[in-house]
This record gives sequence, structure tokens and C-alpha cells, in this order.
Amino acid sequence: MTLNIIVVTDQRDGTLKGASRESLSEARRVVARAGGGDVVACLVGHNLGKAAEEARHSGASRVLVVDDEKLKAFSAAGYAHAVGLVAAKVPAPHVFLAPDTTMGRELLPRLGARIGGSVATAVTSIAPEADGSLTVQRKVFGGRATETLRLRGTPVITLRPNAFGIDASPASDPPVENVPLGDLPAVAQGVQVTNFTSTRGDTPDLTEAQIVVSGGRGMKTAENFVLVENLAKTLGAAVGASRAVVDAGWRPASFQVGQTGKTVQPQLYLAFGISGAIQHLVGITNSRCIVAVNKDPAAPIFKVADYGVVGDAMTVLPLLTKALTKQ
Ligand SMILES: Cc1cc2nc3c(=O)[nH]c(=O)nc-3n(C[C@H](O)[C@H](O)[C@H](O)COP(=O)(O)OP(=O)(O)OC[C@H]3O[C@@H](n4cnc5c(N)ncnc54)[C@H](O)[C@@H]3O)c2cc1C
Repeated sequence: MTLNIIVVTDQRDGTLKGASRESLSEARRVVARAGGGDVVACLVGHNLGKAAEEARHSGASRVLVVDDEKLKAFSAAGYAHAVGLVAAKVPAPHVFLAPDTTMGRELLPRLGARIGGSVATAVTSIAPEADGSLTVQRKVFGGRATETLRLRGTPVITLRPNAFGIDASPASDPPVENVPLGDLPAVAQGVQVTNFTSTRGDTPDLTEAQIVVSGGRGMKTAENFVLVENLAKTLGAAVGASRAVVDAGWRPASFQVGQTGKTVQPQLYLAFGISGAIQHLVGITNSRCIVAVNKDPAAPIFKVADYGVVGDAMTVLPLLTKALTKQ
């Protein structure tokens, strides 16, 4: 059985997100398990030159690009139309993959409805079956259960970032194939993004960050959490939080790391006042180095930490921030 997998990539500031490279990696693995096929990187947007170059070296066997000023701002209907133009250049059977980012979550269900596909979001595993269908798994009910789905018809799937990993890319150097957009259909002009203001400032994406500084209930108050943010700022790191922090309303759900939050994969994960519940740990185990600060020497987080400090986070954080600011 051969499968042609169209990976709809997500870009930020003109470069491919790590989650897009991860989707390309998983597409290669699925194609290998299925017995062959193409991995097609599909880039939609404007000024995609650099991202298209990256896609050429990320293991895609084809790179198809719809680059048009009319696609400068994201719109699910407009982008779904453009992905349809790309799909028309790729022989069936198709599988559509995208990272489960804000873009992927909005675009792929729209695409699925448009083509009558079988949609599954935030999946954590994909297995091709002998009859050409796919079996996928994902966490449901806030992580309390794992659901297994059989997708018949055309699968349209978003992948949970950092659940699959990125392989070294095989040597491939496909040319960039440009697909003209032409006029956008009226339905694609219904909703237009007229302005986009990031509230994240300069901090990196939690799922993409090389360093993550996280705080837990041990930070005691929402106000103390600023100490976590100050250290993150000093290190150019992303800020994470345990679910206890999110449930207390100290920080929004987008900060949550763990089973029902985000999976992170940084070089360095710093945890302050986090006990190390299994639901938190599953989101951080791919970190290269874990440093934990907790006043309880028996806290479970010390079992997975590479370095541990038994101490008061409110004392250690300002000292560490000061020491690193001096460098
Ligand atoms: C289905 C399900 C899904 C879940 N998903 C997630 C998830 O995605 N992410 C997640 O994080 N949790 C998740 N949880 C919750 C998880 O079980 C824990 O309740 C949560 O992670 C605890 O957060 P915490 O470590 O901040 O708080 P606590 O467990 O209360 O730990 C606080 C820690 O701070 C330490 N401490 C206290 N004061 C200080 C101080 N001054 N200095 C240093 N240390 C101090 C304490 O010793 C303690 O170890 C989930 C639970 C369920 C049931």
C-alpha cells in the first residue's frame, strides 16, 4: 500500500515551526510503515522562501508552495482552498497531517469538512493498517483515557507537538514547486484577520523553547509567579506552569505543561515548587536536563531531576536571576 502524505506546515516569522518538522518526520515514518509513498510539504502563506528552503531539507520528497499576498493573514477557508490546490497536484490516496498548533487546529477540521475527510485532532500515534485505513490514538477526557480511532476515507489529522520527535532528515533535495493561487473564492473572503497583536511579547513558544522555566503551587501566590517570569526573561526562556497554578487562576491554561497541557522538549527545564505528579512529568520527560527546586527533599520531582536544590523557591529564584543577570 502506498500513501501520499500532505503535511500542511505552520510557520512563524518566516521559518518552519519545530512542530512542522516533527510532522514531516512522522509522515516519513508512516510512509515507511505503510510501504511507500510521498511526503509532500505543503506551505501556504506569503513570503515563504526561507520556510520552503527549510522544508526541502526536512525530509520531504516534494515541496509545494502557495505563496500569495492574499494569504498573508491566516484564514481557515482561504488556507483550506490553497491546500486543496496543492492536493490536486498529488496522486491519491491522500493523508493530510498538520501540527496541532492554533493554525492546525483551525485549518484541518475546515479542510476535513471541505473534502469529506475523517478528522482526528491532537493524536499521539498513527499506525497504517493493511486495508489502507489508519489507526490513531489520542488522549481524551482531560487525559483520563486514551481513545483509539480507525480512520477510513481520507484521514485529516493534527499531531500533538512533541509527542513524536524529530528524526535526522535523510538526504533529499526536492525542488520547490509553486502552485498559483488565482482568485480566492467568495467563501474564503468571508472572515478576514484585520489585525494580529501578540500578547506573548518576545518569549518563545512553550513547545518550541530551548529553555523552559516553570512554577507550581509552591510559588504560593499569583504575585510570586513574577519571580518565575523574571528568571525566564533573563534566560530568554518560555514560562510554564503546573495545572495547580492554572486551576488557581494564577496563569492561563496556555501555560500548562503536562498530560492535559503541553508537552515540552527543551534542553533545560527548570521547575520551581512543582511536586512532580505523574501528569506533570509526562509532559517534561523529553527534556534534556531537568533542574528542580523544592523545599521537600522527598518530592517526586527529584526522582527525575538531573539536578535538585532543596530550598525555598522564593529565596532561590531571585538569587539565581541576579547571578545570571550579572553574566
Ligand atoms: C486527569 C488529570 C490530568 C492532569 N493533567 C495535568 C497536567 O497536564 N499538568 C499538571 O501539572 N498537572 C496535571 N494534573 C494534576 C496533577 O495530578 C497535580 O495535581 C499537579 O501537577 C500538582 O501541581 P503542583 O506540583 O504545582 O502542586 P503540588 O502537588 O501541590 O506541589 C507543590 C510543591 O511545591 C513544594 N513547595 C511548597 N512551598 C515551596 C517553596 N516555598 N519552595 C519550593 N517548593 C515549595 C511542595 O513541597 C510541593 O512539592 C492532572 C491531574 C489529573 C487527574
